[in-house]
Amino acid sequence: MEKVLRCGRLYTAGDDLVRRDMAVVIDGNVIKEVCPWDRYDFSEREVTDLSERFVMPGLIDAHLHTDSDGTTGGNFLAKTIGDFTIQGMLHAQADLMAGFTSVRNVGCEGYNDIAIRDAINRGDIWGPRMICAGPAIGATGGPTDFPHRPGVENGYMGIVCDGPDAMRKAAREVLKHGADMLKFMATAGINSKSTDPGAQKLTYDEMRAAIEIAEMAGATSAAHAHGTAGIKAAVKAGITSVEHGSYMDDETIGLMAEKGTYFIPTFVPCWHILQHGDDGTIAPYIVKKARDAVSHHRENYQKCLKAGVKIGLGTDTGTPYNFHGKQKKEFELMAEAGMPVMQVLAAATRVNAALLKLDGKVGRLAPGMLADITAFDGDPSADIKDIYKLSFVMKDGKVYRDSPEY
Ligand SMILES: [Zn+2]
Repeated sequence: MEKVLRCGRLYTAGDDLVRRDMAVVIDGNVIKEVCPWDRYDFSEREVTDLSERFVMPGLIDAHLHTDSDGTTGGNFLAKTIGDFTIQGMLHAQADLMAGFTSVRNVGCEGYNDIAIRDAINRGDIWGPRMICAGPAIGATGGPTDFPHRPGVENGYMGIVCDGPDAMRKAAREVLKHGADMLKFMATAGINSKSTDPGAQKLTYDEMRAAIEIAEMAGATSAAHAHGTAGIKAAVKAGITSVEHGSYMDDETIGLMAEKGTYFIPTFVPCWHILQHGDDGTIAPYIVKKARDAVSHHRENYQKCLKAGVKIGLGTDTGTPYNFHGKQKKEFELMAEAGMPVMQVLAAATRVNAALLKLDGKVGRLAPGMLADITAFDGDPSADIKDIYKLSFVMKDGKVYRDSPEY
Protein backbone atom coordinates (compact mmCIF):
# COMPACT_ATOMS: atom_id res chain seq x y z
CA MET A 1 0.00 0.00 0.00
CA GLU A 2 1.14 3.52 -0.72
CA LYS A 3 2.16 5.72 2.16
CA VAL A 4 1.84 9.49 2.18
CA LEU A 5 3.92 11.90 4.25
CA ARG A 6 2.14 15.18 4.89
CA CYS A 7 4.94 17.76 5.07
CA GLY A 8 4.49 21.17 6.73
CA ARG A 9 7.73 22.38 5.15
CA LEU A 10 9.65 20.41 2.55
CA TYR A 11 13.22 20.75 1.32
CA THR A 12 13.66 18.25 -1.52
CA ALA A 13 17.35 19.19 -2.13
CA GLY A 14 16.48 19.28 -5.84
CA ASP A 15 16.71 23.06 -5.49
CA ASP A 16 17.21 25.46 -2.59
CA LEU A 17 13.52 26.16 -1.94
CA VAL A 18 11.50 25.23 1.12
CA ARG A 19 7.92 24.52 0.07
CA ARG A 20 4.90 24.55 2.36
CA ASP A 21 2.05 22.01 2.68
CA MET A 22 3.45 19.31 0.46
CA ALA A 23 2.95 15.56 0.14
CA VAL A 24 5.51 12.83 -0.52
CA VAL A 25 3.85 9.69 -1.89
CA ILE A 26 5.82 6.49 -1.29
CA ASP A 27 5.25 3.12 -2.95
CA GLY A 28 7.18 0.42 -1.10
CA ASN A 29 10.70 1.84 -0.76
CA VAL A 30 10.48 4.29 -3.68
CA ILE A 31 9.14 7.83 -3.88
CA LYS A 32 6.29 7.93 -6.40
CA GLU A 33 5.38 11.59 -6.31
CA VAL A 34 6.15 14.88 -4.61
CA CYS A 35 3.23 17.32 -4.90
CA PRO A 36 1.16 19.93 -3.06
CA TRP A 37 -0.88 18.34 -0.26
CA ASP A 38 -4.15 19.57 -1.73
CA ARG A 39 -3.59 18.09 -5.19
CA TYR A 40 -5.30 14.78 -4.30
CA ASP A 41 -7.75 13.45 -1.78
CA PHE A 42 -5.49 11.36 0.45
CA SER A 43 -8.23 10.38 2.92
CA GLU A 44 -8.15 6.71 1.86
CA ARG A 45 -4.36 6.46 2.16
CA GLU A 46 -2.03 5.73 5.07
CA VAL A 47 -0.91 9.24 6.00
CA THR A 48 1.95 10.13 8.36
CA ASP A 49 1.31 13.61 9.65
CA LEU A 50 4.48 15.71 9.54
CA SER A 51 2.51 18.92 9.01
CA GLU A 52 4.25 20.58 11.97
CA ARG A 53 7.72 19.50 10.84
CA PHE A 54 10.49 20.28 8.38
CA VAL A 55 11.02 17.35 6.00
CA MET A 56 14.17 16.71 3.99
CA PRO A 57 16.19 13.85 2.49
CA GLY A 58 17.99 11.47 4.85
CA LEU A 59 21.32 12.94 5.97
CA ILE A 60 24.58 11.59 4.58
CA ASP A 61 27.84 11.56 6.54
CA ALA A 62 30.71 11.34 4.05
CA HIS A 63 33.46 10.69 6.58
CA LEU A 64 33.27 8.54 9.67
CA HIS A 65 34.71 5.43 11.30
CA THR A 66 32.05 3.01 12.49
CA ASP A 67 34.44 0.84 14.49
CA SER A 68 35.99 3.73 16.45
CA ASP A 69 34.14 4.75 19.57
CA GLY A 70 35.16 8.31 20.47
CA THR A 71 37.17 7.28 23.51
CA THR A 72 40.69 8.60 23.93
CA GLY A 73 44.03 6.91 24.43
CA GLY A 74 44.11 4.27 21.69
CA ASN A 75 42.62 1.29 23.54
CA PHE A 76 42.36 -0.47 20.18
CA LEU A 77 45.26 -2.83 20.87
CA ALA A 78 43.18 -4.75 23.39
CA LYS A 79 40.37 -5.36 20.90
CA THR A 80 39.83 -8.27 18.53
CA ILE A 81 38.24 -8.03 15.10
CA GLY A 82 35.09 -9.42 16.77
CA ASP A 83 35.00 -6.46 19.15
CA PHE A 84 35.47 -4.03 16.26
CA THR A 85 32.70 -5.65 14.23
CA ILE A 86 30.08 -5.56 16.96
CA GLN A 87 31.06 -2.03 17.91
CA GLY A 88 30.90 -1.03 14.23
CA MET A 89 27.40 -2.43 13.84
CA LEU A 90 26.07 -0.66 16.94
CA HIS A 91 27.65 2.63 15.87
CA ALA A 92 26.21 2.39 12.35
CA GLN A 93 22.79 1.90 13.94
CA ALA A 94 23.34 4.93 16.20
CA ASP A 95 24.22 6.99 13.10
CA LEU A 96 20.99 5.93 11.37
CA MET A 97 18.93 6.80 14.46
CA ALA A 98 20.57 10.25 14.33
CA GLY A 99 19.21 10.75 10.80
CA PHE A 100 22.22 9.58 8.76
CA THR A 101 20.55 7.17 6.36
CA SER A 102 23.79 6.83 4.35
CA VAL A 103 27.38 6.90 5.58
CA ARG A 104 30.80 6.62 3.98
CA ASN A 105 33.16 4.62 6.17
CA VAL A 106 36.70 5.70 5.38
CA GLY A 107 39.04 3.37 7.22
CA CYS A 108 38.48 0.55 9.69
CA GLU A 109 40.18 -2.43 11.27
CA GLY A 110 40.16 -5.41 8.95
CA TYR A 111 37.13 -5.45 6.67
CA ASN A 112 34.46 -5.30 9.35
CA ASP A 113 32.65 -2.38 7.63
CA ILE A 114 32.14 -4.49 4.51
CA ALA A 115 30.69 -7.37 6.54
CA ILE A 116 28.30 -4.93 8.24
CA ARG A 117 27.35 -3.28 4.93
CA ASP A 118 26.58 -6.65 3.37
CA ALA A 119 24.58 -7.85 6.38
CA ILE A 120 22.50 -4.63 6.24
CA ASN A 121 21.98 -5.03 2.49
CA ARG A 122 20.87 -8.66 2.96
CA GLY A 123 18.44 -7.56 5.66
CA ASP A 124 20.13 -9.69 8.35
CA ILE A 125 20.67 -6.61 10.52
CA TRP A 126 19.38 -3.05 10.29
CA GLY A 127 21.50 0.03 9.69
CA PRO A 128 22.30 2.84 7.26
CA ARG A 129 23.35 2.49 3.64
CA MET A 130 27.12 2.09 3.76
CA ILE A 131 29.84 2.97 1.29
CA CYS A 132 33.00 1.30 2.56
CA ALA A 133 36.75 1.71 2.16
CA GLY A 134 37.82 -1.23 4.33
CA PRO A 135 41.28 -0.56 5.77
CA ALA A 136 43.00 2.71 4.81
CA ILE A 137 46.20 2.53 2.80
CA GLY A 138 49.23 4.36 4.19
CA ALA A 139 53.02 4.43 4.23
CA THR A 140 55.45 3.15 6.82
CA GLY A 141 55.42 5.85 9.49
CA GLY A 142 52.10 7.26 8.23
CA PRO A 143 49.00 7.77 10.39
CA THR A 144 47.85 4.14 10.20
CA ASP A 145 51.31 2.81 11.16
CA PHE A 146 51.32 3.24 14.89
CA PRO A 147 54.77 3.49 16.44
CA HIS A 148 54.81 0.48 18.73
CA ARG A 149 58.13 -0.56 20.19
CA PRO A 150 60.57 -1.93 17.59
CA GLY A 151 59.78 -5.54 16.77
CA VAL A 152 56.06 -5.07 17.35
CA GLU A 153 54.53 -4.45 13.95
CA ASN A 154 51.12 -3.83 12.51
CA GLY A 155 49.07 -0.85 11.62
CA TYR A 156 45.72 0.07 13.03
CA MET A 157 42.85 0.78 10.65
CA GLY A 158 45.08 0.34 7.67
CA ILE A 159 47.44 -1.44 5.34
CA VAL A 160 51.04 -0.23 5.55
CA CYS A 161 52.90 -0.28 2.24
CA ASP A 162 55.59 1.59 0.33
CA GLY A 163 56.18 2.13 -3.38
CA PRO A 164 53.82 2.06 -6.39
CA ASP A 165 53.85 -1.73 -6.75
CA ALA A 166 52.91 -2.28 -3.13
CA MET A 167 50.19 0.38 -3.50
CA ARG A 168 48.76 -1.42 -6.54
CA LYS A 169 48.69 -4.67 -4.60
CA ALA A 170 47.03 -3.02 -1.60
CA ALA A 171 44.41 -1.40 -3.86
CA ARG A 172 43.65 -4.70 -5.57
CA GLU A 173 43.41 -6.47 -2.25
CA VAL A 174 41.04 -3.91 -0.73
CA LEU A 175 38.82 -4.02 -3.82
CA LYS A 176 38.96 -7.83 -3.88
CA HIS A 177 37.40 -7.88 -0.42
CA GLY A 178 34.49 -5.73 -1.58
CA ALA A 179 35.46 -2.12 -0.89
CA ASP A 180 33.52 0.54 -2.78
CA MET A 181 36.45 2.95 -2.64
CA LEU A 182 40.05 3.41 -1.51
CA LYS A 183 41.17 5.54 1.41
CA PHE A 184 44.72 6.88 1.52
CA MET A 185 46.65 8.52 4.29
CA ALA A 186 48.41 11.11 2.12
CA THR A 187 49.90 13.12 4.99
CA ALA A 188 50.49 12.85 8.72
CA GLY A 189 47.60 13.70 11.02
CA ILE A 190 46.36 15.44 14.16
CA ASN A 191 45.75 12.26 16.15
CA SER A 192 48.91 10.44 15.06
CA LYS A 193 52.24 11.01 16.72
CA SER A 194 54.17 13.06 14.12
CA THR A 195 54.91 16.69 14.98
CA ASP A 196 53.78 18.18 11.66
CA PRO A 197 50.26 17.09 10.65
CA GLY A 198 50.86 18.38 7.14
CA ALA A 199 53.95 16.30 6.37
CA GLN A 200 53.45 14.38 3.13
CA LYS A 201 53.56 10.59 3.57
CA LEU A 202 52.48 9.15 0.21
CA THR A 203 54.04 10.31 -3.05
CA TYR A 204 52.19 11.23 -6.24
CA ASP A 205 53.47 8.04 -7.88
CA GLU A 206 52.23 5.88 -5.01
CA MET A 207 48.76 7.40 -5.02
CA ARG A 208 48.52 7.47 -8.82
CA ALA A 209 49.38 3.75 -8.98
CA ALA A 210 46.55 2.85 -6.61
CA ILE A 211 44.05 5.32 -8.11
CA GLU A 212 44.61 3.79 -11.55
CA ILE A 213 43.52 0.43 -10.09
CA ALA A 214 40.46 2.09 -8.50
CA GLU A 215 39.53 3.77 -11.79
CA MET A 216 39.74 0.42 -13.62
CA ALA A 217 37.26 -0.98 -11.07
CA GLY A 218 34.92 2.05 -11.21
CA ALA A 219 35.75 2.79 -7.58
CA THR A 220 36.34 6.21 -6.00
CA SER A 221 39.10 7.33 -3.65
CA ALA A 222 39.59 9.64 -0.68
CA ALA A 223 42.74 11.09 0.82
CA HIS A 224 43.28 12.01 4.44
CA ALA A 225 45.44 15.08 3.81
CA HIS A 226 46.32 18.08 5.99
CA GLY A 227 49.29 19.71 4.20
CA THR A 228 49.45 21.43 0.84
CA ALA A 229 52.07 19.16 -0.76
CA GLY A 230 50.16 15.97 0.08
CA ILE A 231 46.84 17.47 -1.00
CA LYS A 232 48.29 18.66 -4.30
CA ALA A 233 49.84 15.25 -5.02
CA ALA A 234 46.51 13.53 -4.28
CA VAL A 235 44.52 15.96 -6.45
CA LYS A 236 46.96 15.62 -9.35
CA ALA A 237 46.82 11.83 -8.98
CA GLY A 238 43.03 11.98 -9.50
CA ILE A 239 41.68 11.61 -5.97
CA THR A 240 37.87 11.89 -5.67
CA SER A 241 37.86 13.72 -2.33
CA VAL A 242 40.27 15.48 0.00
CA GLU A 243 39.51 14.93 3.69
CA HIS A 244 40.35 17.53 6.40
CA GLY A 245 42.49 19.86 4.23
CA SER A 246 43.84 22.01 7.07
CA TYR A 247 46.66 23.66 5.13
CA MET A 248 46.16 24.50 1.45
CA ASP A 249 47.74 27.04 -0.89
CA ASP A 250 45.82 28.95 -3.54
CA GLU A 251 47.18 26.82 -6.36
CA THR A 252 45.83 23.67 -4.70
CA ILE A 253 42.40 25.26 -4.20
CA GLY A 254 42.35 26.33 -7.86
CA LEU A 255 43.31 22.83 -8.94
CA MET A 256 40.53 21.28 -6.84
CA ALA A 257 37.95 23.64 -8.34
CA GLU A 258 39.21 22.90 -11.85
CA LYS A 259 39.28 19.10 -11.44
CA GLY A 260 36.00 18.86 -9.51
CA THR A 261 37.71 17.34 -6.47
CA TYR A 262 35.42 17.17 -3.44
CA PHE A 263 36.49 18.70 -0.14
CA ILE A 264 35.26 17.21 3.16
CA PRO A 265 36.51 19.66 5.80
CA THR A 266 35.50 17.75 9.00
CA PHE A 267 35.52 20.62 11.52
CA VAL A 268 34.03 18.73 14.42
CA PRO A 269 37.00 16.46 15.42
CA CYS A 270 39.28 19.45 16.15
CA TRP A 271 36.39 21.24 17.87
CA HIS A 272 36.04 18.32 20.32
CA ILE A 273 39.79 18.13 20.87
CA LEU A 274 39.92 21.83 21.74
CA GLN A 275 36.88 21.53 24.05
CA HIS A 276 39.00 19.10 26.07
CA GLY A 277 42.30 20.87 25.44
CA ASP A 278 43.03 21.64 29.08
CA ASP A 279 41.51 18.71 30.95
CA GLY A 280 44.43 16.35 30.42
CA THR A 281 42.42 13.62 28.69
CA ILE A 282 43.95 14.20 25.25
CA ALA A 283 47.71 14.00 24.61
CA PRO A 284 49.28 17.52 24.55
CA TYR A 285 50.85 16.96 21.11
CA ILE A 286 47.35 16.37 19.65
CA VAL A 287 45.92 19.51 21.29
CA LYS A 288 48.87 21.61 20.10
CA LYS A 289 48.43 20.46 16.47
CA ALA A 290 44.66 20.98 16.57
CA ARG A 291 45.12 24.55 17.90
CA ASP A 292 47.46 25.44 15.07
CA ALA A 293 45.38 23.77 12.38
CA VAL A 294 41.98 25.36 13.09
CA SER A 295 42.68 28.94 12.05
CA HIS A 296 44.28 27.88 8.76
CA HIS A 297 41.51 25.37 8.21
CA ARG A 298 38.74 27.94 8.47
CA GLU A 299 40.49 30.35 6.13
CA ASN A 300 41.14 27.69 3.48
CA TYR A 301 37.56 26.50 3.71
CA GLN A 302 36.38 30.05 3.01
CA LYS A 303 38.70 30.24 0.01
CA CYS A 304 37.34 26.90 -1.25
CA LEU A 305 33.80 28.22 -0.87
CA LYS A 306 34.67 31.30 -2.92
CA ALA A 307 36.47 29.25 -5.57
CA GLY A 308 33.45 26.97 -6.04
CA VAL A 309 35.12 23.77 -4.79
CA LYS A 310 32.51 21.05 -4.22
CA ILE A 311 32.19 20.78 -0.43
CA GLY A 312 30.47 17.85 1.27
CA LEU A 313 29.75 17.18 4.93
CA GLY A 314 31.73 14.65 6.96
CA THR A 315 32.28 14.36 10.68
CA ASP A 316 35.18 11.96 11.32
CA THR A 317 32.99 10.46 14.04
CA GLY A 318 34.99 7.99 16.12
CA THR A 319 37.79 10.49 16.88
CA PRO A 320 38.20 11.64 20.53
CA TYR A 321 34.88 12.70 22.12
CA ASN A 322 33.26 12.57 18.68
CA PHE A 323 30.60 9.96 19.38
CA HIS A 324 28.37 8.14 16.91
CA GLY A 325 24.87 9.55 16.73
CA LYS A 326 26.10 12.86 18.20
CA GLN A 327 27.89 14.30 15.18
CA LYS A 328 25.46 16.99 13.98
CA LYS A 329 27.67 19.78 15.42
CA GLU A 330 29.40 19.70 12.01
CA PHE A 331 26.34 21.39 10.42
CA GLU A 332 26.64 24.29 12.83
CA LEU A 333 30.42 24.60 12.42
CA MET A 334 30.19 24.62 8.61
CA ALA A 335 27.58 27.38 8.75
CA GLU A 336 29.50 29.38 11.37
CA ALA A 337 32.63 29.24 9.22
CA GLY A 338 30.82 30.92 6.34
CA MET A 339 28.72 28.49 4.33
CA PRO A 340 25.11 29.61 3.69
CA VAL A 341 22.70 27.35 5.58
CA MET A 342 20.97 26.06 2.42
CA GLN A 343 24.36 25.04 1.08
CA VAL A 344 25.11 23.14 4.31
CA LEU A 345 21.86 21.19 3.86
CA ALA A 346 22.77 20.52 0.22
CA ALA A 347 26.27 19.38 1.28
CA ALA A 348 24.76 16.75 3.58
CA THR A 349 22.30 15.54 0.93
CA ARG A 350 22.69 15.97 -2.84
CA VAL A 351 26.42 16.86 -2.81
CA ASN A 352 27.34 13.90 -0.62
CA ALA A 353 25.07 11.60 -2.65
CA ALA A 354 27.03 12.48 -5.79
CA LEU A 355 30.34 11.93 -3.98
CA LEU A 356 29.12 8.49 -2.81
CA LYS A 357 27.91 7.72 -6.35
CA LEU A 358 24.43 7.34 -4.91
CA ASP A 359 22.88 10.24 -6.83
CA GLY A 360 19.86 8.94 -8.66
CA LYS A 361 19.09 6.86 -5.55
CA VAL A 362 19.30 9.12 -2.50
CA GLY A 363 20.14 12.72 -1.55
CA ARG A 364 17.03 14.26 -3.14
CA LEU A 365 13.32 13.72 -2.76
CA ALA A 366 11.88 13.15 -6.23
CA PRO A 367 9.95 10.44 -8.10
CA GLY A 368 12.05 7.28 -8.51
CA MET A 369 14.38 8.05 -5.60
CA LEU A 370 14.61 5.73 -2.59
CA ALA A 371 12.52 6.81 0.39
CA ASP A 372 15.31 7.96 2.73
CA ILE A 373 13.70 10.83 4.60
CA THR A 374 14.19 12.79 7.83
CA ALA A 375 12.02 15.34 9.61
CA PHE A 376 12.78 17.95 12.25
CA ASP A 377 10.83 20.03 14.72
CA GLY A 378 11.70 23.65 14.02
CA ASP A 379 13.29 24.69 10.75
CA PRO A 380 16.99 23.95 10.08
CA SER A 381 16.85 26.11 6.93
CA ALA A 382 16.06 29.15 9.11
CA ASP A 383 18.25 28.19 12.08
CA ILE A 384 20.85 25.48 11.55
CA LYS A 385 20.70 24.64 15.28
CA ASP A 386 17.30 23.05 14.62
CA ILE A 387 19.26 20.22 12.96
CA TYR A 388 19.46 18.86 16.54
CA LYS A 389 15.65 18.63 16.67
CA LEU A 390 15.41 15.42 14.68
CA SER A 391 12.12 13.61 15.17
CA PHE A 392 11.61 11.28 12.19
CA VAL A 393 13.85 8.90 10.26
CA MET A 394 12.81 6.72 7.32
CA LYS A 395 15.20 4.57 5.32
CA ASP A 396 14.08 2.57 2.31
CA GLY A 397 10.45 3.34 3.12
CA LYS A 398 10.73 1.97 6.67
CA VAL A 399 10.31 4.23 9.70
CA TYR A 400 13.13 3.94 12.26
CA ARG A 401 12.26 6.95 14.40
CA ASP A 402 9.05 8.87 14.96
CA SER A 403 9.91 10.58 18.23
CA PRO A 404 12.19 13.45 19.21
CA GLU A 405 15.87 12.64 19.41
CA TYR A 406 16.57 15.55 21.74
ZN1 LIG B 1 38.90 9.92 9.53
